[in-house]
Amino acid sequence: MTTIGFIGLGNMGMPMASNLHRAGHEVRCFDTSAAALAEAAERGMSPCTSVAAAIEGAQCVVSMLPSGRHVLDVLVTPQDLPYAPGCVVIDCSTIDIASCAAFHQALSRRGIATLDAPVSGGVTGAAAGALTFMVGGTEEGFARALPLLQVMGKNVIHAGDAGAGQAAKICNNMITGISMVAVAEALSLAKRLGLDLRKFFDIASTSSGQCWSLTSYSPEPGLVASSPSNRGYEGGFASELMLKDLRLAEQAAIASGAPALLGGAAASLYAMHCQAGKRRLDFSSIIQMMDDRPARAAV
Ligand code: NAD
Repeated sequence: MTTIGFIGLGNMGMPMASNLHRAGHEVRCFDTSAAALAEAAERGMSPCTSVAAAIEGAQCVVSMLPSGRHVLDVLVTPQDLPYAPGCVVIDCSTIDIASCAAFHQALSRRGIATLDAPVSGGVTGAAAGALTFMVGGTEEGFARALPLLQVMGKNVIHAGDAGAGQAAKICNNMITGISMVAVAEALSLAKRLGLDLRKFFDIASTSSGQCWSLTSYSPEPGLVASSPSNRGYEGGFASELMLKDLRLAEQAAIASGAPALLGGAAASLYAMHCQAGKRRLDFSSIIQMMDDRPARAAV
């Protein structure tokens, strides 16, 4: 049994922490939300009144917070946090590259082992213990964290040194955001051209247009049973989270000099979509933006 300090019990953190508790670990948790702490207690975990209380004596600290600013404010800036000697801190949040580097540097200067371990798989994957973890950090830190990450995830990949997990996450979601826009535009055009969508799906999914956004997560209802498009775009991965990840990719591309023209365009489209009141809808709802554009008048 490992004593774990778990910080951030939101949509992702709560089921992840629950899985660790169910696997027999002692989970001491903290969140700024009283409701989240009450739910954690109902689930059998030990709620704490502060970050320090959750961390004290823990062999491992796991965080699942909204952004880089939160990670630094909570885990790094306070100089008096009682990290136990030999403790490993695993940040699973999706954050920017610069904050991730600051997290690793500041804590390793204090002799604390750190890993960045962002995830893919969403709330369903978190509940099922089936997340994919992309991990950055030392081989030694990875080996220590692996048994815990395997409780919360199905695929745990050591992407490389510190920061490699965040880099992989940002690049992966850049592909997903761009490809979803591409699939949504093509399906919207196919409708305007009068194609039978089932037949077009059968063609594209076995042709060069095949990709995850089409065959596993179709933005058009009625084509892939498990897609959020069949449930009014409820659940799934919110458009605002896709916008967040595309902006992180854009930021990293600017900082590294990498061209990211399509990534930037996809970010702009998601920003417009969120401004149109769709930020909570699954990101595949971007097809509504294409479908809502009025047809050109016949000449
Ligand atoms: P969320 O907003 O549901 O949860 C964040 C939690 O952090 C909240 O409960 C909030 O109260 C808590 N919190 C905020 N400030 C805090 C502080 N100072 N101290 C303690 N707790 C604090 O977000 P989420 O959907 O669980 O996402 C968490 C992270 O996982 C984000 O970085 C997100 O990008 C990433 N992610 C989310 C998904 C998804 O599908 N939701 C998928 C992959 C990755």
